[in-house]
Amino acid sequence: MALYERLEENLDKCIRSLDIWKQLINENCDDEQEKRMEMEKLTNCVKSYCDIDKQIKSTENALRKLDEKMNDPDSKGSEDIDHLFQEYLQDDPTASTNNYKESPLWKKVIGGHSDVVEVRQKKSKIDDTQFEELGDSLLCSNVFAPPIDPISKTVIQHPYKNKRCKHVYEYGTISNYIKQMKNKAKCPYIGCNNNNLRLTDLVEDGNLQVQISQYLETQQEEDDDSEDED
Ligand SMILES: [Zn+2]
Repeated sequence: MALYERLEENLDKCIRSLDIWKQLINENCDDEQEKRMEMEKLTNCVKSYCDIDKQIKSTENALRKLDEKMNDPDSKGSEDIDHLFQEYLQDDPTASTNNYKESPLWKKVIGGHSDVVEVRQKKSKIDDTQFEELGDSLLCSNVFAPPIDPISKTVIQHPYKNKRCKHVYEYGTISNYIKQMKNKAKCPYIGCNNNNLRLTDLVEDGNLQVQISQYLETQQEEDDDSEDED
């Protein structure tokens, strides 16, 4: 259990640092544009941490199931442990969702924080739709959150998934990166220890592609609606 205690401790430190970062943005960025850009950087960073947190939880769940299975009196004792673990990991409901907004890390740093609400209200008076979008996405939960490319920090439109570490990237960005790094590319996600990133490990993620397209369409419709109101 010492490992989990250490993990909790690091998570606390991480949340404190992110909180300080957010305070600094709020206190020192007078220019709204600058503030928005800094908040976006912070948000993307929190997302990366949520990802790591999610991976840890999925692994934990899979290990627990494996433990139960092995201690089951009906267990034959000849199961392929590695295979079972991978199966449980794939089955874990938290593994397939991209909903980092459900993460306690997200909720603590970004979600429902009064500062964010305040910034958003100030901004909407000046009528900056772009910021309103960001504000909305910071405040709403339980909605599909499109994945952000770790290199370009923009919404992924053509998702390709790494078969080895399961991370998702924007196809154009990641293939350029692999070419640039000549065979020395590492997975660009913070905390990922996949040190051998190869184009042949990437597969198109059709399901995610559909979700993203739907999300972008809805965003577009919302934009059109708000234009009509004016
Ligand atoms: Zn990775």
